Amino acid sequence: MNYLRRRLSDSTFISNLPNGYLSDLQKPESSQPPPPNSTAEGGQQATPPPVISPTPERKPQPAVQPSGTGFFSSITNVVKQTAASAGLVEQTTISMAKKYKILLVIDEPQQDWPKVFKGKKLQGDYDIRVEQAEFRDLSVVSHANGTCNVAMQVLRNGTKVVRSFKPDSVLIRQHAFSMTENADFRNLVIGLQYAGIPSINSLESVYNLCDKPWAFAQLISTHRKLGAEKFPLIGQTFYPNHKEMVTMPTFPVVVKIGHAHSGVGKVKVDNHSKFQDIASVVALTQTYSTSEPFIDSKYDIRIQKIGNDYKAYMRTSISGNWKSNTGTAMLEQVAMTDRYKLWVDTCSELFGGLDICAVKAIHGKDGKDYITEVVGSSMPLVGDHQTEDRQLIADMVIANMNQAMAQNPKRPTTIQPTQNNSQKEAMTDLKKTPPQKPPPQGCLQYILDCNGVAVGSKPVQGN
Ligand code: ATP
Repeated sequence: MNYLRRRLSDSTFISNLPNGYLSDLQKPESSQPPPPNSTAEGGQQATPPPVISPTPERKPQPAVQPSGTGFFSSITNVVKQTAASAGLVEQTTISMAKKYKILLVIDEPQQDWPKVFKGKKLQGDYDIRVEQAEFRDLSVVSHANGTCNVAMQVLRNGTKVVRSFKPDSVLIRQHAFSMTENADFRNLVIGLQYAGIPSINSLESVYNLCDKPWAFAQLISTHRKLGAEKFPLIGQTFYPNHKEMVTMPTFPVVVKIGHAHSGVGKVKVDNHSKFQDIASVVALTQTYSTSEPFIDSKYDIRIQKIGNDYKAYMRTSISGNWKSNTGTAMLEQVAMTDRYKLWVDTCSELFGGLDICAVKAIHGKDGKDYITEVVGSSMPLVGDHQTEDRQLIADMVIANMNQAMAQNPKRPTTIQPTQNNSQKEAMTDLKKTPPQKPPPQGCLQYILDCNGVAVGSKPVQGN
């Protein structure tokens, strides 16, 4: 045996071995079938059969492969150990395999979510692999058996690359819908919901918050329940289309057209003839609108709740724009009061529960508050505590993933062989790639597996 050890540590001896000799020894000794989904995990071609089955398709690989016994097995082990110590084979033993769950984070690339989740574990020993992309770079295919393939476009050295994976959970930090051009991603929300992917906030609530008047309807019932004193909701009129915009509101009013964000589609209207002008614009949009009294505001209020953490902010316009989220404004954190807490606690119960939410209100120069809106997990983080807020969100996501694992322990587990350094770098590079110009026509589009390794390519026909 010692002789064999000496011979195997001699690299000339190793290199003179017949082709395939050492690689054969790396194969499991008992010829076991591969795990049912081992090639599918992370692979673009992974399209499981649309069979409804209560039992999972994928099973965790055993941590240690059964090994043979006896003399030949000892020789095999010596050969393996010695070859490994000679550095001739990659040391990716199955016992070093990592278990992990995939978290899809839908957010802008500037937000570094992999960093926030770095080193975090699920149920003690599961890693969290974060896949981050914007809605516009995602596509989803879901099956009734609870599987969901997400394809994600990333740019790698100026080339569009598609990564494909099955998320175990999702964090939605972008608006799923806006009536501005190409910003309707409700189909993706439906896809994730179809496969029952656990999400923060719930996919049901994300979908329900895709029409502001629909969400406002919930605020109306809260207002009725709690009363105007405790829940001072702004008055509002809903017009399903422009034809109904004939009734005379008192002026000035703010007309809010359709569902859009960041001040888009909000117009201050001072008199009847301008109101009619706006109605004629709404006619082109073929959507609903609302009108509400214009509040001569001192500042905007925002009460946010992330899990059990509460923060209140006031925002004062500096540039003089009546929309304090347009132009320059000053943001200050203010004390949480019981009144604010009641507002946000009540709103956090809407649509089956909002893990992350904020209530928006206007504080008028008349000294009164006017609640205008509730927003969900897509709310932008503001102020000096954004790092803390991101951590709070991460903690909630982890709790949600742990709960999902406890409730559904049979859900497939992903096992990832330990990566070598070059693979790790490839994955990190994908996260770091800054936005670049789309590739010129005729470029190749690569399909990567879950480790960032190209498994196929196809030509790109422009953008
Ligand atoms: P979001 O981006 O959160 O989806 P939004 O910015 O598009 O929403 P609002 O928050 O309703 O739309 O309005 C933008 C700004 O306009 C508010 O921050 C507030 O300063 C101002 N505003 C809204 N409604 C009124 C109103 N009724 N009276 C006076 N000012 C208002």
